[in-house]
Order: sequence, then C-alpha cells, then structure tokens
Amino acid sequence: MNLHKEIYIPKPSPHDPDNLGHFGSLENGQVGFGGRFVPETLMPALEKLRLDYEAVRFDKEFWAEVDHYYKNYVGRPSSLYFAENLSKELDAKIYLKREDLNHTGAHKINHTVAQAILAKRLGKKKVIAETGAGQHGVATATVAALFGLECEIFMGAKDAARQELNVFRMKLLGAKVHAVESGSKTLKDAMNEAIRHWVTNARDTYYIIGTVAGPHPYPMMIRDIQSIIGWEAKQQLNAVEGCLPDKVIACIGGGSNALGIFNHFLEDESVECIGIEAGGLGLDSKHGCSLAKGSPGVLHGQLSYILQDEDGQVQEAHSISAGLDYPGIGPEHSFLKDEGIAKYDYITDDEALDAFVWLSQAEGIIPAFESSHAIAYLKKMKPDEIKGKTILINLSGRGDKDMIQAKDILKDQFA
Ligand SMILES: *Cc1c(COP(=O)(O)O)cnc(C)c1O
Repeated sequence: MNLHKEIYIPKPSPHDPDNLGHFGSLENGQVGFGGRFVPETLMPALEKLRLDYEAVRFDKEFWAEVDHYYKNYVGRPSSLYFAENLSKELDAKIYLKREDLNHTGAHKINHTVAQAILAKRLGKKKVIAETGAGQHGVATATVAALFGLECEIFMGAKDAARQELNVFRMKLLGAKVHAVESGSKTLKDAMNEAIRHWVTNARDTYYIIGTVAGPHPYPMMIRDIQSIIGWEAKQQLNAVEGCLPDKVIACIGGGSNALGIFNHFLEDESVECIGIEAGGLGLDSKHGCSLAKGSPGVLHGQLSYILQDEDGQVQEAHSISAGLDYPGIGPEHSFLKDEGIAKYDYITDDEALDAFVWLSQAEGIIPAFESSHAIAYLKKMKPDEIKGKTILINLSGRGDKDMIQAKDILKDQFA
C-alpha cells in the first residue's frame, strides 16, 4: 500500500443521510437531524448541488484532480507521528495525525480545495464563505486565489475587529471582506448574511461551508472530503503497528476534523471514537458544548443540537479557541451521540492551555488551541483507560495563529 500513489475516493457510509439530508430514520423513532431549513428560494440551488455532488462523489477523475492539489499544494499525505515522549510518560502508544503540517496550518484546506474544484467544474465564477475567527475565511480566500475565483467573505463586525490579522490575510489573498453589522455581529449573523447573499446569487456563486454543518448536502459532502484524514491514518497505523487504534480522539467545533478522522473507524467495533467539545469556563458558565448542554434546534439551515435559551434564541458560545466557539454542531454528530455510536466529552479552557504547553515542551509541537483540547483528553482519562492502549489523536492545526493570545495569557509563566 503506497499512500503517495493511491487516490482517495469517498466510500458510502452506513450513516449516509436520505435525499433530504436526514441522519437517522424517522421511522425508527430517530430525530432525523440535518435536513434543509432555508428560505424556499434556495431549495432549487441545494437540490442542484446535491445532484452535482452525487455526480462526482465516486468519480475517479474528480478525485484525481483533488489529489493532485492535495499532494503538490497541501502536502498530503500528512504524517502520522508516534509521539515518543508522551507515549513514555503515559505508558501507551500515542499517535498524532499531523494535519497541522498542511498548507495554511490546519485541516480546513482539505475541504476548501475540494469544494473550489467542484465550484470550478460547475462553472461558478465566485465563491462566498462565512467565517467566525477567520480561519475558514483564510482557507477559502487561499483556494479562490489558487483557482482564480472571485471571493467574498462574511464576518461579524465584532469578530472582524477582534481578528484583524485574519482580515488582513484574506484581503492580501484578494478577497473582499464584509463586516456584518446585524444581530450580535458574530458568526451566526455572518452565516445568515452569507445564506441571504447566496439566495440572490446562486447562479454564478458557490457557497463554501467551513464544517460538517449547513443544509444538505453540505454535512455529508464535507464529511466525505475530510474522511481522507482517517483513511490515511488507518493505513499508516496498520503499516507500523499492524492493528487498529483502541481510541480515536478529536476536538469538535462544527465537527469536520472529528468526522474526518472518525468516519473510517465507525464500523470497527473495537475502536472507540471520542469527540471533545469546548468546555470553556465550565459547563455551568460559558462554553461551547452543544451536545452536552444544548437541545435540538435549527441553526445554519440544519436541525442539530444547539445552544439556545428557553425562547429558542441561539446563545453565544465561548471557548479559548476561536475554532470551537460555535453554538451548534454538525447533524451527523448529533445522530452518532443519540445512537451511542461515538462518545463525547469536553475539556475546559484551562485544561486546553495546560495541554498546549505540555505538547509544546514534550514533543516540540505547538498545537492550535482547538487541537489542544484533544491532547488534553489524555490527562482527563483515567490511567487504566490509557495504559497499554494505542491512541490516535487528530492534531487538527498548528498554534502559530494563537501566538498573540497565548503570549498574553502565559506571559507570567514564561517571563
Ligand atoms: C476550525 C478548526 C477546528 C474546528 O472545526 P471542526 O469543523 O470542528 O473541525 C478545529 N481545529 C482547528 C485547527 C481549526 O482551525
């Protein structure tokens, strides 16, 4: 098996949604998370995208083109690194899937490259995206530059002011950035604005969604794309250890890097997949735990667990990591949780910060704050849950983007 030669093509999943995007069957008494909760005028564009995606979903030529950019532009396959020092310390085998080594520093480039190639195939001239902290906006502006597409990014005005550097990056890459002044001026308002823009411009515009969320077919399509992570890791681990991992751990904002690494392991009974939500300041305070503390509701065109008040108003999430600071979660995770197929837990800001320093000093790898949540779970598990086990962790991104914030928080510790 040579990963450098083989081309990744998605495979159908037993958890594929129906044609309307419902995960789980309503007849089996399941909630039917997902769906399409959008203005009527957007339905034809979504149905067309579903058919367009179905046409390329298992198409060798399409994935060969994606593969070309993965290998030469993104730097795939990403390495699977045996974390020697963590392994020694914990008396376990800890493997890190190094998505942090990708171009632009995280897994987001995987789905923006593939979606931009799809957009180009469909004859679109423009791409739009919503962004919270700006990471998805930067990944989208990057591929727009690469493929010569016009690019407009919607960002809450409050976020745009907080994330000046990413706004500058997007503009440098040639994108136009709209600071959205409505509502709370954050991510959910940017999402509403992006959907509104798409309603009137769907003819020539492709909407690049940044995680396994949004109306059907986005959650399934982005899961398919990101599943290259677990597809590679499974083969890489088998080549060195000749076995499956006991546990697969990933952090969850919307849930794309987690589903990306989980998907090829969900049918392996011996493998436990664990998604880590942002515990923020604690579950009784501000956090981003849509699964642990939310309830089913509609956000971003889909039905899923969301953080909402008694009147159904979406609440603001909080996390030290901008990428986990999202009041919703992709619908497939809601399904996997309710069915008990994957397990979910959380890590607080403080625990994530500890792990950020821990991995930096133990392995010389500075992780993104998001990925630090997955690393921190190694310390939250009981020693007998880890000892002697083979554990695969998705290192979704690198910490460069978090340096200014980290320096501010940790300046006394490293004075
Ligand atoms: C955006 C981001 C996340 C969260 O997004 P998911 O869709 O949950 O993967 C996690 N890690 C990094 C480094 C990110 O940039």
